[in-house]
Formats: sequence, C-alpha cells, structure tokens
Amino acid sequence: MPHRPPRFLIRSLLFSLSVAAGGLAHAADAGPGGVDDAMAAAGVAEQLQALAGQTIAWRRDIHQHPELGEQETRTAALVADHLRGLGLEPRTGIAGTGVSAILRGARPGPRIALRADMDALPVLERTGLTFASSATGTWRGETVPVMHACGHDAHVAILMTVAQLLAEMREQLAGEVMFVFQPAEEGPPEPGAIAGAARMLDEGLFADFVPEAVYGLHVTSALPVGQVGYRSGAMMAAADEWILTVSGRQTHGSRPWEGIDPITVAAQILLASQGIIARQVDTTVAPVVLTAGQIRGGIRFNIIPDEVTLAGTLRTFDEDVRANVIERLRLTADHIARASGASAHLAVASNAPLTRNDPVLAERAGAVLTRTLGADQVLTMPLLTIAEDFSQYTSVAPGFFHFVGVTPVDQDPRTAPANHSPEFFIDEAALAIGTRTLLALALDQLLAR
Ligand SMILES: [Zn+2]
Ligand SMILES: [Zn+2]
Repeated sequence: MPHRPPRFLIRSLLFSLSVAAGGLAHAADAGPGGVDDAMAAAGVAEQLQALAGQTIAWRRDIHQHPELGEQETRTAALVADHLRGLGLEPRTGIAGTGVSAILRGARPGPRIALRADMDALPVLERTGLTFASSATGTWRGETVPVMHACGHDAHVAILMTVAQLLAEMREQLAGEVMFVFQPAEEGPPEPGAIAGAARMLDEGLFADFVPEAVYGLHVTSALPVGQVGYRSGAMMAAADEWILTVSGRQTHGSRPWEGIDPITVAAQILLASQGIIARQVDTTVAPVVLTAGQIRGGIRFNIIPDEVTLAGTLRTFDEDVRANVIERLRLTADHIARASGASAHLAVASNAPLTRNDPVLAERAGAVLTRTLGADQVLTMPLLTIAEDFSQYTSVAPGFFHFVGVTPVDQDPRTAPANHSPEFFIDEAALAIGTRTLLALALDQLLAR
C-alpha cells in the first residue's frame, strides 16, 4: 500500500465518518480518492464497530456502579486507568473526583476540550435491567438509593471511546484535545457550594490550556435513538436553587393565637410565588419556571412549629428576568410573612448559568452533525428548561452542546420515561451515535489544517 500524505488521510477520515453513519449523500464533499477513500472509510467504520461493544460494556459497568456527585471515585479510577492505557498522563482529583488529560496531535493546531459528566442521582432504579443499580450513597446526610437516571454513564463511556479513537489517530491530528471527566454536574453536595464544572475551572482546569472550543453532549429520552438535536444561542435555562426559611413561634396546635404559625404563612407564600410568574413578569421576553420541590416543617400534628423551609428551583433564559424574579420572590415572601408577624429569609444559589451555543461554532458544528448523520437526523431543539453546568465552560471558551436521542424507535419519546425517572432507559445504539458525533466534531477541528 503506497504512502498517502496526511491531507489525503484527513479527507478519508472525515469521509469515513459520514459513511459509517450512513451519510452517503455527502460523499461528493469528501474530495477525490474513490477506492482509496472507500477503503479508509471501511477502516474507520470497522474501528467504530469494533469499539461499540466495549463502549456498551463500559456503560453497563458504570451503570451498575453509580456514584453521587463528588463521590465518583470508582468511575474516576476507571477513566484514569483507561487514559493511562492510551499513553496519556491524566490529572486526577480535580474538583474532588474530576479527571482530565491532554492528547497532543503530531502537528500544531487548535486546542479543544471534550467534556463528559460522571455523577449519578439519588433515584431508586426501576428499569429491571440485568445490570440495574442496587447501590446506595449519602446525599445531604441521608442514605439514598443511587441510579444513573440522567445517562451520565453513557457520557463517560462515549468519551472514553472517543479518547481511544483519537489516541489511535494521533499521528494524523493537528492540535490538542483535552478530555474532561467532570463530577457533580447535577449540583453541589451542599447548597451553595462550588462544585462540578465551576469547581473544575476554579481548580485550574483551563489554566494552562485555554481551549478554542468546548464540546459536550447529553443523552435524552425526548428524541428517538438515531436523532440528535441542538439549538444555536440560548438552549438550556439558568438554574438557581432557592431556599426560603419562614420563621414563626412555636405553640400548641389548639391555641394558634399564642404563637406565629409558619405553616400557613409558607403556604401563602408558595401560592403567591406562582402569581409572580403569571402576573408580574413579561413572559414574552423569555419563559420562567419557579418550582418548589420541598416543604419541611413541624414534627407533630398538634404542635405549630417554629420554622418551615421551602426549597425549589428557578429556571430562566435571561439575566434581567432572573434578577427580577428573585427580587420579587424576596419581596413577596417578606411582606406576606410580616403580615402575620413572621419573618422570611430567601437564599438563592446559582447551580448553572444559561447554556448558550456559540452561534459561529454552532453553525460549523451543525454542518458536521448533518454530514455525519444526515440532515433528517439533526433537529433544532426548542428552549429547554433543564440546565447544564456545561455553561460554566462556555464562560471561558465558545461551546457547543448537543443532545443524543436514546428512546427506542418503537416508543413515543413524548411518553418514554424521562431523564431522572427511575425507569429512564437508554437504547444502547445511541452510544455509537454519540461516539460518532463527538468524534466528528473533534476531527472537524483537529484535521482542519
Ligand atoms: Zn440530570
Ligand atoms: Zn445530566
């Protein structure tokens, strides 16, 4: 076989990704080469195929051994061992359990970062899978069941696979790629703590390696397997965790006038808070969701307690709207509490800023996805009220985040158990799709020069 210059190989590899994904419609874009290109194409397709089983095995192993945020020691060790096996020198213990490693191509070129999150959720798995989790963990002082109910097991397995494929192509690559395996995407172990992506950055993840682009993906039940989706500009909401403490004065339940009842005050504040969204915010600017997920107060049916706490999440798509809603919630709580002689204290902690796909990068990445999967498999996502701390990285570098469908084709994605559900299910064919899209996005940068 004659030696082929790198440029030729580059085109072959990009072409082969399209072929591997069935995107033959764009074969003409792959340049000259004919038979040789097709051979190269078959090579990469086979490589992807050969690794698909390994990706699934990794994902099942991680799924069966899920770990909560900042407790991902087993997962991190698996990742670090794999990266060492690829000849890389991973940095470990970032933000608690995070791992990163840099792969340097044979020639100079752009610096990019690829990110996966590793943490699981306090959910009792009900999938009935043979590799279902029976793990427990500690969540804010309580022992809880743990499940990879958000699919981060898939993200880790996909990025491990992409790292291997890129490491094997090192000689053809121009540029450097950092693999980022991050803990605690679902939020900090304690409210208000710096964790996950923010803590990775605080601990110098990009101190000596400022990427020109950061890529990430998320599996979703909202799309059928085979399809991917993204949105240019704002895509996912900013998420704030809020805790409202209503303080009254404890007394006998039969003589409420002798104390101050924080339960009825908290109930009034809770209902009035929805009036803020419905009556006081211009929802044509950007949508808002204000949810209380927790009410705690009292110990016995005939004792009015001293204190009630409400905790919830605020989702916004605009910084001014966010500030406005927080201020109005504070004002509403304060005035309602005072009317009864109680007091209210609101604490708000940002879990993730708005996730925004850089428009220039999104245009380029969208073309890559289309070339890889075919235009009919690449969708424009609506605004999503879920949040992602991937947004922290995009405060440092342009970012592109996309969704990978995991719902089996014989199910309706609208009714399939959603991410975070105890029945959340991944059609494992999605692992190869995610591997292809992330690899193609990386090669688009690393083979461009
Ligand atoms: Zn999640
Ligand atoms: Zn997630």
